[in-house]
Amino acid sequence: MMRKKKRTAISEENKTVYELKDVNGTVVDQDRVKGFQTAFRGEIIQPGDFSYEKARKIWNASIDKHPGIIARCAGVADVIAAVNFARENELLVAVRGGGHNVAGRALCDEGIVIDLSSMKGIHVDAKSHTARVQGGATLADLDRETHVFGLAVPAGVISKTGIAGLALGGGVGWLVRKYGLTCDNVISFDIVTADGKPKVASANENEDLFWALRGGGGNFGVVTSFEFRAHPVSTVLGGLIMYPRDRAVEVIRFYRDFTQSAPEELTAYAALVYTPEGVPAVAVIACYCGDLTEGEKVFKPLRAFGSPMLDEIQPMPFPQMQTLLDAAFPDGNQNYWKSTFLRELSDDAIAVLVEHANRATSPLTGVTIEFYGGAASRVGVSESAFAQRQAQYDLVIVAQWVDPGESQRHIGWARGLADSMRPFSSGAYFLNFLGEEGEDTIKAAFGPNYDRLVGIKKKYDPKNFFCLNQNIKPGL
Ligand SMILES: Cc1cc2nc3c(=O)[nH]c(=O)nc-3n(C[C@H](O)[C@H](O)[C@H](O)COP(=O)(O)OP(=O)(O)OC[C@H]3O[C@@H](n4cnc5c(N)ncnc54)[C@H](O)[C@@H]3O)c2cc1C
Repeated sequence: MMRKKKRTAISEENKTVYELKDVNGTVVDQDRVKGFQTAFRGEIIQPGDFSYEKARKIWNASIDKHPGIIARCAGVADVIAAVNFARENELLVAVRGGGHNVAGRALCDEGIVIDLSSMKGIHVDAKSHTARVQGGATLADLDRETHVFGLAVPAGVISKTGIAGLALGGGVGWLVRKYGLTCDNVISFDIVTADGKPKVASANENEDLFWALRGGGGNFGVVTSFEFRAHPVSTVLGGLIMYPRDRAVEVIRFYRDFTQSAPEELTAYAALVYTPEGVPAVAVIACYCGDLTEGEKVFKPLRAFGSPMLDEIQPMPFPQMQTLLDAAFPDGNQNYWKSTFLRELSDDAIAVLVEHANRATSPLTGVTIEFYGGAASRVGVSESAFAQRQAQYDLVIVAQWVDPGESQRHIGWARGLADSMRPFSSGAYFLNFLGEEGEDTIKAAFGPNYDRLVGIKKKYDPKNFFCLNQNIKPGL
């Protein structure tokens, strides 16, 4: 007679074996898994399979989770099958798009990962300036297809980020001031909700869901595809200007004044970083998406300021602009992030920021100040779930290192910087940059829209089936 498997991870010859368990800790019978597998077109990956170790890795190597099953979906029918299998077997559910969430919300221990990373289909309609994009596409996938038609969808600044997680949390990038947030450019969502039913959410169908998905994160279901509005963006003027770190205070003050009067075609971030050789520096990274001759004039004061050690502002295809910072965020490093909007970028705030950043514990670490406003700030706070429409500076602290044994030191530094900037914080947060934070911070990120989001969560996901996200509790 076959012996029933034990209920906890078991050790065979000192090797831990991970298993699929329900939320009560009971191992799910393999016959049930086989039944699910038979009806699944994509790939089912389980602990012990050859591809398991690779499939459970995400961008942030600090996250070390062991799902009981990874259901790599090939299409909408697979997503429905995975949602139903998870619900019927009471599994903990994680949904994976690009796997870039710094807190590792794309993974879980023992439960199921509904993995969309093979669903990357993109269709651009050049006539209507729209793009239909599946939920596993990255920004690089999207930019590659839209660029062929001289178009772009506003998204983020690192090409390997998943469009799904980014758009659901808002989405800021080089086109945010001219064309708004990524979520402002969604025309419709195809989504599978917790009941396993496919739905469309748009201005005319399931309007409440459409409102919630534009900034409400992964709380409401698995988005299988997005229909985006695209804009005529092809060659942009952009790049990096870098100065020695001892100029940081004056460069950031200049950046503040420069961004206040810049046209909306320009989006610029300031960053306290290190050169590849480990030399502390301060940089302004900017992108101008309008007429190039006009752009040259706009950049003039920035390029004339001080004596940069590097000035690489130049015309380039937009997809190239989208990869400029990729090398600074490689897969497989340890990462810990803190972020907050600042009330104002005062001289005092800049002084504290630079002083603390100068004591960073890793040369892979960076601190960025991002100014949005423009089109993003003209949408009303209650028009979509994304509430943080104010034109304030967003501070993003990115601690990054290689050796997991050093984690406490680097995390301590990032927390220390966040603490010292607290007096300047507006108490508001950008959902996409939140690491592992408490409920209060998540609530503050949703701001005045939180209560309405709870109501919509209750309607579409009353049992909090989708809970591994910046969670909105349905009030069980
Ligand atoms: C290096 C780096 C650079 C970044 N740059 C930017 C930036 O420029 N602008 C910006 O706005 N953000 C940026 N972010 C933040 C990023 O947008 C969020 O971390 C986002 O959640 C990542 O989406 P993903 O699909 O890659 O992540 P995942 O880790 O796969 O998922 C993140 C969350 O979204 C949910 N989710 C993913 N796919 C789906 C889906 N199809 N349906 C429903 N829920 C889903 C997941 O369950 C999870 O809760 C960056 C992150 C990193 C690591």
